[in-house]
Order: sequence, then C-alpha cells, then structure tokens
Amino acid sequence: TREHLIDSEKLSVASQLAAGIHHEVRNPLTTIKGFLRLMEAELPYSDYFKIIEDEVQRIEFVLSELLVLAKPHNVKLKHENLRLLLDDVKAMFNAQASSNNVQIEFIYDFDNVILKCDKNQIKQVFINFLKNAVEAMPDGGMVTVECQPYTDKKVKMLIKDTGTGMPQKILKKIGQPFFTTKESGTGLGVMLSKQIIKNHNGSFNYWSDSNGTIVEIILPISLISLKME
Ligand code: ADP
Ligand code: MG
Repeated sequence: TREHLIDSEKLSVASQLAAGIHHEVRNPLTTIKGFLRLMEAELPYSDYFKIIEDEVQRIEFVLSELLVLAKPHNVKLKHENLRLLLDDVKAMFNAQASSNNVQIEFIYDFDNVILKCDKNQIKQVFINFLKNAVEAMPDGGMVTVECQPYTDKKVKMLIKDTGTGMPQKILKKIGQPFFTTKESGTGLGVMLSKQIIKNHNGSFNYWSDSNGTIVEIILPISLISLKME
C-alpha cells in the first residue's frame, strides 16, 4: 500500500541519515566532551556542566540507537540458544524492572530452541520491547514473556504487559521513525526492532487495549527440542 511505501522510503532515508549523522556528529561530540572536562577542571564547580554533560549523553544515546539502523546489512548470524540469550536479557533487565515495581516472568513451552541470529541485535529487540512495557506501567505491574513453538520451523514469543495500552490512533503509528508519545522518548525503539526482525526474516505484531499490550515476535529457528514430560 501507499502507506507502506512511504514507511519504507522514510526508513531508507533514515538509514542513510543515520550513517552520515553517526560519523559527522560523533567526532565533534568527542571533542566537546574533552574540552568540557578541561573546563571543569579549571573553573569553579557549576551546575551548568552537569546539564551540558546530560545533554551530550542524550545525543550519544540517540546516536547509539541509530547505529543499528545505519548497518542493516552488517548482521552476523550464528547459532544461538534462545533460552540462554533471554537469560542474559533477563539479567540485564531485572534491576530496571524491580526499581519500577515490575515483575518479569519468562515461560518456555520447549526445552531448547536454536536461532540463527545476531545475538546482540535480538537482545536489543527484547530490551526495546521490555523497556516499552515497563514504561507503560508507571505504577508497576507484570510482564510475561511466553515462548512457544510455532510451526516446526518457527518460534513465537509474546511479550505481555499490564500497562496503559494504546488507542488505535497510536497503534497505527507505532514503528514509524521518530514516532513517540513520551517526553524524552526517541521514537526509534520499535522501528529499529522492526528492522532487526525483518533482517532475521521474522515478523511482529501488536495488540493493545486498556488492559495492556501484547507484542508478538515470530522468528525462524534452526533446531528445537521439545519438553520432556
Ligand atoms: P519510545 O519508547 O522512545 O517512545 P518506541 O518506538 O519504543 O519509542 O515506541 C513508540 C511509542 O509506542 C511509544 O512512545 C508509546 O506511545 C507506544 N508504545 C510502545 N510500546 C508500548 C507498550 N507496551 N504500551 C503502551 N504504549 C507503547
Ligand atoms: Mg521505546
């Protein structure tokens, strides 16, 4: 459809921009940081330094998110055990979850699944979605990650939160470059995740209502061992 075309056009423009920006902005930023440190050492302490440093850090954060986009073809695929990969994600995420009063549970309907993937990129996808889940639950809540065999060549993963959910008009825009409803959001998380999943020949889908949101990720697998009962 026309909308899809416009989306993929935006993505390719964003991807070219990302590569350029990353190169052209990183270097001056490094210089700014260096001189900032020198100034800090020479001048009496000022709150202004903290503000400048925070802002520089925010630019760096956006740049690092954009980097995935700049290299959509630079994917290193290896055989990875999905459970071990998600154990890492869980360990990385536990602190953030508990400080936000959020419980996370991982449920597996198989013993082991081997994915052919770029480990860090798939981790990034889960971190992006889990971050959104936590951010949708300002008063805390529950996130469940359910992993189940889909066909014998695919695995299905559902990330469910008990957050605020999204109205239809937001749901329609999710994944568009720079679309965010958050004061300090980048609007890049879902778009980058979409790109990574696409690079892995997978697909994803959203469901949302006032009880919360479900993200479904489907990825091809190279091996599965089912649960021994
Ligand atoms: P960001 O998190 O920086 O805003 P994202 O691309 O990750 O950018 O998400 C885009 C928007 O989609 C968010 O601003 C939010 O409005 C909405 N969104 C994404 N995930 C969820 C979720 N689990 N629950 C509610 N809203 C969500
Ligand atoms: Mg996000």
